[in-house]
Amino acid sequence: MIDLHSHTNESDGTFTPFELVELAAQRGVEALAISDHDTFAGYDQALPEARARGLDLVCGIELSTRVPGSKSRTVHLLAYFLRQPPPAEFRGWLNELLAGRRDRNQRLIASLREKGVEIELGEVERLGRTLTGRPHFARILIDKGYAANFDEAFRRYLGETAPTYVERYAPYVAAAIQRVLEAGGLPVLAHPIRLGIPDPAAEEIFIGELRDAGLRGIEVFHSDHRPADMERYGGIARKYKLLVTGGSDFHGDVKPQISLGTGYKGNLNIPMTVLNDLRAAS
Ligand code: AMP
Ligand code: FE
Ligand code: FE
Ligand code: ZN
Repeated sequence: MIDLHSHTNESDGTFTPFELVELAAQRGVEALAISDHDTFAGYDQALPEARARGLDLVCGIELSTRVPGSKSRTVHLLAYFLRQPPPAEFRGWLNELLAGRRDRNQRLIASLREKGVEIELGEVERLGRTLTGRPHFARILIDKGYAANFDEAFRRYLGETAPTYVERYAPYVAAAIQRVLEAGGLPVLAHPIRLGIPDPAAEEIFIGELRDAGLRGIEVFHSDHRPADMERYGGIARKYKLLVTGGSDFHGDVKPQISLGTGYKGNLNIPMTVLNDLRAAS
């Protein structure tokens, strides 16, 4: 069993890189990709412990991107670096994305305070390590009694439809795909179910357009996918000659219903052949 999608506390997960490797070993995960949002810091730190335990650790990342002409649609793009580590130019580009987050976070604080929500950037940033994201804001909002849970925090304050919502800089998906390809990475569409395209024909057309923009793979197996979704995305992968990937999207205690390796209610059991095929193709 392998898991090619996970987060540490360097982005918005709750496990340290060390703890995540420990958990993977305990659960019998043979290969693990750390795919934090916008940073390799978790992967970098996990590497020595993974080597010591004989865990096959894969270097990954997850980027939030946007689509021309759509104000609300965000596309999560995974990238895997299977041949060589990501080059310095790519890491430099990630720093620009992190700067965009800091700018958004400052504006989000101002927007919340305007509505009488008394929180400060410093206390939110203390929860984040390399980066501070909306899930960290949610935890402070819950701690301070402004929301009962994550759902309410996003519905009332942080989500796209909340009155206090603030956008952050995101590259176009085609530009992000090109960056990943230039860096020697494999660009993969993360959890396609979250594109939220209800019509299967329109969904397929959209994924075909991403393939034309250079996309190399699609996350067929994911905690949010029902069996029928996995079948549909598997079919699209075959039709468009996209590589198949899969992972749990483990975040630790903030998403306690998701288990490393086995996903949601045991809906995942991804074989090593999936990773072998990725390596052969890259
Ligand atoms: P950010 O990258 O800081 O804008 O935060 C995005 C992250 O917030 C996503 O990766 C999700 O983990 C989380 N998120 C976004 N929308 C929601 C929601 N409605 N409920 C719970 N978590 C959410
Ligand atoms: Fe996340
Ligand atoms: Fe995602
Ligand atoms: Zn993720």
